[in-house]
Amino acid sequence: MSDGSKIEWTEATWNPVTGCSKVSPGCKHCYAERDWPRLAAPRAKPNIYTGRDFTDVKCHPEKLGIPLRWTKPRRIFVNSMSDLFHEAVPFEFVDAVWLTMIKSQQHIFQILTKRPQRMLEFFEWESKRCEHPTLPNVWLGVSCENQETFDERWRILAKVPAAVRWFSLEPMIGRIDMCEAFGMWWNQTMHCFEGSGSKLNPHGFSWVVAGGESGPHARPMHPDWVRAIRDQCQAAGVPFFFKQWGEWAPPTDGAGGRKIVMHRFGKKAAGRSLDGRTWDEYPA
Ligand code: SF4
Repeated sequence: MSDGSKIEWTEATWNPVTGCSKVSPGCKHCYAERDWPRLAAPRAKPNIYTGRDFTDVKCHPEKLGIPLRWTKPRRIFVNSMSDLFHEAVPFEFVDAVWLTMIKSQQHIFQILTKRPQRMLEFFEWESKRCEHPTLPNVWLGVSCENQETFDERWRILAKVPAAVRWFSLEPMIGRIDMCEAFGMWWNQTMHCFEGSGSKLNPHGFSWVVAGGESGPHARPMHPDWVRAIRDQCQAAGVPFFFKQWGEWAPPTDGAGGRKIVMHRFGKKAAGRSLDGRTWDEYPA
């Protein structure tokens, strides 16, 4: 839990749940798992991680009230150290998280999951119990790392009731084509996209964040993969945020050509400039 975050697209993190387990190739070098030994190490004053394994998914009711005490509005990433829709998190607890978000309309809550099916099941379960309004301050997103996970997860996200639906394409470990999700297709020159008027972005996706992998075993992201995401967002009128190159980056930002030799600069030095500029767009 921390007020202030190094994650470029948020301002604070709130972890009412800790711990997770892997579901797809994007989890291979999970940063939460990597950070876990440091957090769980023995200390004089134990914290919510102390002595636990990463796979020991634990709900923390005592942390539910934290955003209520933050009076200054901020963007809050919910569960940076877990997945709110993990199978081990009871819907009753997810509901308690929702109650905090309902009571904290001054904040924006950014939720990401790799388990959108369970997110959808939560809303179905919830709709049988009560009428929950779609909260304008809750942004619901899916993390996708390649075409396979994107194709599976966007379709489920499209069914979820949310004011803002978004994608985090990080770590990008393969090319992702979002055209079908955005109601677009390639034209014959394979350079532009064509939508068809009112059918453009029919599911109302509101935001795309993309980035490469960081950490000691990071897999490089081809610059053309992220350029294609930027171009598809622009064609669909969807805000685009380039979070980071990650561990690897091209030697010169803006270098074209088919043959790219990626260099291992490290996350900080690799930076987040794409073709000479930063992309910091947010949903309206
Ligand atoms: S879902 Fe997220 S937190 Fe859980 S293992 Fe995968 S990358 Fe880590």
